[in-house]
Amino acid sequence: MSKTQQQGKLSINTTNILPIIKKWLYSDHDIFIRELVSNAFDAITKRQKLTTLESDITFDETPEISIRIDKKKKTLTISDNGVGMTAEEVEKYITQIAFSGAEDFVKKYESEDKDAGIIGHFGLGFYSSFMVASSVEIQTLSSSKDAKPVYWRCDGETDYVIDKGTRTTVGTDIILFIDKEGKEFLEESKVEELLKKYANFLPVKINLNDKEAITNGQPLWDKSPQDVKEEEYKEFYQTLFPFSGEPLFWVHLNVDYPFNLKGIIYFPKLMHELDTSKSRIQLFCQNVFVSDNVNNILPEFLTLLQGAIDCPELPLNVSRSQLQNDPYVQKISNHIVKKVGDELAKRFKKSFDEFKNDWKDIHPFIKFGMMNNDTFFKKTEKIVLLTQSNNELVVLSDIVEPAKEKNNGKIVYAQSKDQVVAHKSFFEKKEIPVFILDAVIDHHFVQFIESKIDGISFLSIDNAVKEFASSENTEEIVDADTNKKPSEILPEIFKEALGNDDITFESKPMDISGPAVIYEDEMMKRFSQMNQFMQRGTAALPKKLTCILNSSSSLLKTVIDLHKSGKNDQVKVACQHVVDLAVLSNQPLEGQQLESFLSRSFDLLDAKLTD
Ligand code: ADP
Ligand code: MG
Repeated sequence: MSKTQQQGKLSINTTNILPIIKKWLYSDHDIFIRELVSNAFDAITKRQKLTTLESDITFDETPEISIRIDKKKKTLTISDNGVGMTAEEVEKYITQIAFSGAEDFVKKYESEDKDAGIIGHFGLGFYSSFMVASSVEIQTLSSSKDAKPVYWRCDGETDYVIDKGTRTTVGTDIILFIDKEGKEFLEESKVEELLKKYANFLPVKINLNDKEAITNGQPLWDKSPQDVKEEEYKEFYQTLFPFSGEPLFWVHLNVDYPFNLKGIIYFPKLMHELDTSKSRIQLFCQNVFVSDNVNNILPEFLTLLQGAIDCPELPLNVSRSQLQNDPYVQKISNHIVKKVGDELAKRFKKSFDEFKNDWKDIHPFIKFGMMNNDTFFKKTEKIVLLTQSNNELVVLSDIVEPAKEKNNGKIVYAQSKDQVVAHKSFFEKKEIPVFILDAVIDHHFVQFIESKIDGISFLSIDNAVKEFASSENTEEIVDADTNKKPSEILPEIFKEALGNDDITFESKPMDISGPAVIYEDEMMKRFSQMNQFMQRGTAALPKKLTCILNSSSSLLKTVIDLHKSGKNDQVKVACQHVVDLAVLSNQPLEGQQLESFLSRSFDLLDAKLTD
């Protein structure tokens, strides 16, 4: 050490620190209730603990926390019959900010019982009362032998008074003199709401004014799964999420080692909406509600589920509302992902029929999860179902091999049942299954599956007609006058008749029932769907359509004949109608195209009936 070097200790000027705690430490004023009720609960836990450790300490009354509002005096009092404090303890734990009596207690009794069930940690919670109160008083009587009641008061500055108190029974009253801005906390309904929010599952009796036991007490996740009946799980779901209907099923988490995690995660009915902004999983720490924003702990797809997790060892920052990024958090999250994946796989195995029933409710969740989390993908890749056009559900992994063997790895899909109608018999004849992928998430899911499973690709039904139409056994008769095949003549006729370049025409003999098929390039189709999905409301991109004319169709032979005899008006009507019908077999007609289709149809009908 050099001669000039000096060592020192940073000191904190307390006059400045209180306003900082009041204003900045906790973003949410509500939480003073959580802190004071947690302290009261800790005091009760300590007293219970001490009765077993020290012979002269007793606890014969029912442990309870009582909250009273006095509107005239503008006070809110939180009372408990816990350990209380001696004058020295008040000096030590209350007046030394950030010196936690809870930590001290846990350290002292560490050897007896590691999990002491104590909530406090940072020694800052008590001062959150100054966020809503101008002054705070304490009346307390310690459980230790020959203790005297103690009174303490602080007006929000750094001075305090400590004196003889008036409490006659063991325990503590924390009396808050609510300031102007905090006046909502003098409303019983508001306080009740907050107690239910933060302390609903604290295993202790909580009273408010004249109302007794207003909270639920012991949470269901604390019980061991084999002791909980199905009905209880359903009831508990209602407690957490009133008016929610019945859950589909649930996962009860209960881990002691290597980390402590409890909770129940429910699969709600109907998860069509992929809206992750709603809070559906509540986070608790030692049964005290911490946050309904679990985004930092759980992967986004899990937040579509509902439930509660209690994680006493989560590394929370002092305000306990935001989580730090932590490898520990990662472990917990992985555990939950695995458990949820396992549960799904288990249900799939247990009853395929039930699983099929649940599929419509859970498939967006599973698909979303697979795309977002590789662990989850591995757990669920063998249980993904696809809906066939005949409504039957089949397992994706079961159709991969047949698709590779028979159909070049192509899996045919339609985006609605209606898209299948016109092509139904074609695919039936060829024994190629068609799947309906009509959910919003399916565009993305299709791409994802293609990237994950080698050798398969999805093909939309219009493209598939083109792909699987065969020219075998369909002979073309060369036209004697022109010495050309129909397939060489037809594209020209159609191009001329339609008079625009929106559609590319090709022709070949095909074993389809109609005169033409029309398809949109698969890549372009996906690109424009993606584009529309991402920027809702933007106009669709112009389509790149190809129409394949079936040169073995007798209808088109008639068109060629009409063309040869110069009946151009009739050729035009026929070509337009053939194209419209080809479009119509894939999707409804719209706008101008629909209008001219309708009027042309009436004309055709009229002509047919009058000739
Ligand atoms: P923490 O709970 O993190 O230790 P707090 O600021 O909330 O910090 O409380 C400081 C300490 O004051 C507690 O650890 C406890 O020793 C004491 N204390 C606070 N409230 C009570 C109470 N109702 N009964 C007994 N002791 C209390
Ligand atoms: Mg505390």
